[in-house]
Amino acid sequence: MAEKILLEVVTPEKKVLSEQVDIVVAPGEEGEFGVLPNHIPFLTKIKVGELRFRVGGAARYVSIMGGYAEVLPDRVTILATAAEEATEIDVIRAKAARERAERRLAEAKDRLEFVRAQAALQRALARLRVAERR
Ligand code: ATP
Repeated sequence: MAEKILLEVVTPEKKVLSEQVDIVVAPGEEGEFGVLPNHIPFLTKIKVGELRFRVGGAARYVSIMGGYAEVLPDRVTILATAAEEATEIDVIRAKAARERAERRLAEAKDRLEFVRAQAALQRALARLRVAERR
């Protein structure tokens, strides 16, 4: 029986995280889900949002820009478009991205521009929310 979970968060650019943790809570496409050691295996899509985990008493937070999660009894692997630990988030950049996205939403001339701006706004808001946790 596994006592910990190896949590790995990987993006096309880098390995964001590889840690032995006690619990993982992730923003699944059909709602947030929690994973403890020895969970039954499953695969799911991940939304833009907040991933959190615990090591001993300490909670840590990661902004996650969507992707896939593979859950195994002793391992959770997240393949994300982009992800940042709370402490790595550049708040000034995220605020600028939020303002840009809001402007683009207001000025969108077609559906595609609107949907792209909406996605950029979601990413910026997720980063700002997670950054507040540090
Ligand atoms: P921006 O418009 O500021 O580039 P974005 O949402 O378009 O934001 P992404 O395409 O999601 O950015 O990410 C591109 C790269 O930049 C990724 O490596 C991501 O981790 C990093 N990144 C984006 N925004 C931030 C931020 N505020 N703080 C730290 N890293 C960030």
